[in-house]
Amino acid sequence: MENNWSIETVAIQGGYKPKNGEPRVLPIAQSTTYKYDTAQEVADLFNLDVAGHMYSRISNPTVEAFENKMAELEGGVGALATSSGQTASTIAITNVCTAGDHFVAIGALYGGTVSLFTNTLKKMGIEVTLVDASLPLDELKKYFKPNTKALFGETIANPALDVLDFEKFSTLAKEMDVPFIVDNTFATPYLCRPLEHGANVVIHSSTKYLDGHAISVGGVIIDGGNFDWNNKKFPEFVNPDPSYHGLVYPEKFGNLAYIVKARVQWIRDLGSYQTPMNAFLTNVGIETLHVRMDRHCENTQKLAEFLQEHENVSWVNYPGLEGHPFYNLSKKYLKGNSGVLTFGVKGGAIEGEKVMNSLKLAAIVVHVADVRTGVLHPASMTHRQLTEQEQKDAGVTPDLIRVTVGIEKIDDIISDFNQALNKI
Ligand SMILES: *Cc1c(COP(=O)(O)O)cnc(C)c1O
Repeated sequence: MENNWSIETVAIQGGYKPKNGEPRVLPIAQSTTYKYDTAQEVADLFNLDVAGHMYSRISNPTVEAFENKMAELEGGVGALATSSGQTASTIAITNVCTAGDHFVAIGALYGGTVSLFTNTLKKMGIEVTLVDASLPLDELKKYFKPNTKALFGETIANPALDVLDFEKFSTLAKEMDVPFIVDNTFATPYLCRPLEHGANVVIHSSTKYLDGHAISVGGVIIDGGNFDWNNKKFPEFVNPDPSYHGLVYPEKFGNLAYIVKARVQWIRDLGSYQTPMNAFLTNVGIETLHVRMDRHCENTQKLAEFLQEHENVSWVNYPGLEGHPFYNLSKKYLKGNSGVLTFGVKGGAIEGEKVMNSLKLAAIVVHVADVRTGVLHPASMTHRQLTEQEQKDAGVTPDLIRVTVGIEKIDDIISDFNQALNKI
């Protein structure tokens, strides 16, 4: 990190370095296009011979500042901002898997990721195997085939809240010689930095805690620059790219090969880049990431402890609770357990719905991970399109209520849940 700044300082000052007399705050470069003096300069840009902006479908100064901040926060070599977290997941995979390829993902995943992986990528000829993270390493290895090109998992699974066993899965990825791609959305780089625990690529839905205020949809991919693409499994990385006159990515871009390829192939062709306005808003959000995350963790721990004691609650799931199956992994890898918990109400889904409808401070929202407390019933909402088995794999039971705990005064949050729970 620049000047050995700590993560809190990078969250505020990273990414954008104004020169003398320039705006102190990251400006919004609301321009699709960029002016050059000579035709040759533009030709050089198209050839990827020089770095620079040519068109805001591919790069933009405001978005670039957000990307640089994210690369610094995660300790990566480069980053690419996308229009959503879904696009980040899509490109993270398609950048290494083509039709006929296969990858392995840990089954406890965000519902949108499950449908992307099992339905949409399948239509593109890319197969996924969802695995149970608790299987021993030798069993897990059996799911890898010669055409397996990646391993994917979430640091803190949404909404199962399983914590990723980085040591086990980075070992697996290394032994199988595939990149380890980690969705770090729920943890954020403030609570966990996957690249320090053996990940090769990190992705985020920046829509969540990075933005933190529920105002902009976005995603980001961060390249660890720590995977050797010359292992015979990734012909797209060693063979010349016909769409760039025979360019070979690692030769030209060294350890930035993955992230440059993602931008100049996938973002160029699909056009799902982040907008300058959203990058600006997300960047403002990140400036308070560390302060917000501390409060999210503190409030969620207190609400979890309160719910655990309430007579109308049948179970509570939060990795910060002692005795939780992922308590030790959380202690090992996370600085805090983030702001989401799940619980079940006595009487199941029917009584649970009553509780949700009785809440006043906590609203029913599909979103998670912003400053306001909200609740959601995944089985009928985010995970509705999944089969019963997929719901089970994702840790979604019919009675599960997901709470995204905001940073309001915890006493007010607790009394809201208390009055709603006392209605049943
Ligand atoms: C929300 C979410 C996504 C998808 O992100 P969008 O920005 O909604 O496209 C991916 N992964 C996780 C863990 C999420 O919570």
